[in-house]
Amino acid sequence: MNNQVQPIFILPEGTQRTTGRNAQRTNIMAAKLVAETVRTTLGPKGMDKMIVDSLGDVTITNDGVTILEEMQIEHPAAKMVVEVAKTQEDEVGDGTTTAVVLAGELLKQAEELLEKNIHPTVLAKGYRIAAEKAQVILNNISEKVGDRDEEVLKKIAITAMTGKGSEASKEKLSELAVKAVLEVSEKEGSTITIDKNNIKLEKKVGGSVDDSELIQGIVLDKEKVHTEMPKSVKNAKIALIDVAMEIKNTEIEAKIQITDPNQMQAFMDMEEKMLKDMADKISKSGATVVFCQKGIDDLVQHFLAKKKIYAARRIKKSDMEALARATGAKIVSNVDDLSSSDLGNAGIVEEKKIGDEDMTYVRKCKNPKAVTILIRGGTEHVIDEVKRAMDDAIGDIMAAVKSGRVVAGAGASEMELARNLRLFSDSLSGREQLAVKAFADAIEVIPRTLAENAGLDPIDVLTELKSAHDKGRKWAGIDVFSGKVIDAWKEGIIEPLKIKTQAVSSASEVAMMILRIDDVIAGGVGKGPDMPPGGHGMPPGMGGME
Ligand code: ADP
Ligand code: MG
Repeated sequence: MNNQVQPIFILPEGTQRTTGRNAQRTNIMAAKLVAETVRTTLGPKGMDKMIVDSLGDVTITNDGVTILEEMQIEHPAAKMVVEVAKTQEDEVGDGTTTAVVLAGELLKQAEELLEKNIHPTVLAKGYRIAAEKAQVILNNISEKVGDRDEEVLKKIAITAMTGKGSEASKEKLSELAVKAVLEVSEKEGSTITIDKNNIKLEKKVGGSVDDSELIQGIVLDKEKVHTEMPKSVKNAKIALIDVAMEIKNTEIEAKIQITDPNQMQAFMDMEEKMLKDMADKISKSGATVVFCQKGIDDLVQHFLAKKKIYAARRIKKSDMEALARATGAKIVSNVDDLSSSDLGNAGIVEEKKIGDEDMTYVRKCKNPKAVTILIRGGTEHVIDEVKRAMDDAIGDIMAAVKSGRVVAGAGASEMELARNLRLFSDSLSGREQLAVKAFADAIEVIPRTLAENAGLDPIDVLTELKSAHDKGRKWAGIDVFSGKVIDAWKEGIIEPLKIKTQAVSSASEVAMMILRIDDVIAGGVGKGPDMPPGGHGMPPGMGGME
């Protein structure tokens, strides 16, 4: 026996572990890389990104969340930052780049304080204080907007679309977005509810973006399946079926031996009868229109046409759900079970020619709140980017209508927030004060980046902006076209307050979370997530404690 101490392994072989400052550095670096990626797209002068996926499909966009989703980021800390963009997308629908850039900058500023030996928990606490104060300041500086103030709401939509693919038609598109939101919003007492699901964005290549229109009801990019079916059905009774209206192929391969021609005929007759039964069951329920999520057999089409029933197939799942909401129909998974109580209602279902193709319009629905914005445009890429910009604009208008509070953009609200945070920090002591000041510096990354992306000198611009705000010009912002300081409010560059409060709260949350991590333990080699340079190949137990 010898007395040598045996090394102890508490983790399985192949586990990667980084601890202490190394873990922090690696995580911060990964998070900053994510922010760097989208940074150049911020603002009206931001650039676009072209993302090619493994199948060769191309997306051209400057929408933060779209870029990050398409990039399929792997690093765990980087993924946390991507989550910030997703939260922003879910909560507001716009401001995803802002939120991510802010998260990156909060960590960058934090890194400098960590280098000065400020403990991460102290730092995180300072950030928490700053984030809470930021909410109060933003609320205080915001302006009120009426829930029917179309003028201001239109400006919000235009601000959301400035610099995007939709720019050229922003007048028309912003009007459609405002109308759509006002159409579906419901006021009860002083609370306003808006269900975004009631606004469907449908695209159709062809025509120009200016040909886009708002339609009351649901528009489907589908034609009726059979020429003999009626072109329009009034007072439609609508059945929604989410299974194929065909004869199912048997799961097990069945061999049918046919020995004489009569047997063959009998077999075909039986199939035909089953298909006819399907059409009969639809008809018996009282339905005059059928929307099927899957395929409809030729024979079923024929029998439905004979009964003057309008049918369309391969309807998207999301459209089936929209139809259910709008018409009050229940989605049925078995044609045998269909009954009159499952049917929905619409004043009219009709086929209309848009460009060269036929689409199905479902109008005068039971729920009049359902609307569709039909987006037109020269190519698929153009329409996709217009759709994303419309999505942002609709989210912004909704946020403004719901809370009734807005701020000016073009860096104005960030400059005002940073100034007030610094004033507030004077009341704090020592290290917390440093952290709050760092937070204020981080907020200025937004105006700085807007200036950089516009090819302006960020130092000059920020100095001018700062002095304007010190003089009490609350909404002083950057004219990214001339480089001058402007009153962003007067210029109509307006955004909902929620964009800013949400961006600040989710960015600071993720920054604090990342700062608190001092140990990264990743499972066996090959299964674990990719580490960026510096985090690779750490032998178990290595890494410094400081
Ligand atoms: P995000 O994904 O964060 O919404 P955008 O690329 O849409 O990123 O850029 C939003 C930023 O652009 C906001 O800070 C907003 O105030 C600013 N912005 C919008 N319109 C203008 C304008 N006309 N002049 C200057 N800044 C603008
Ligand atoms: Mg935006």
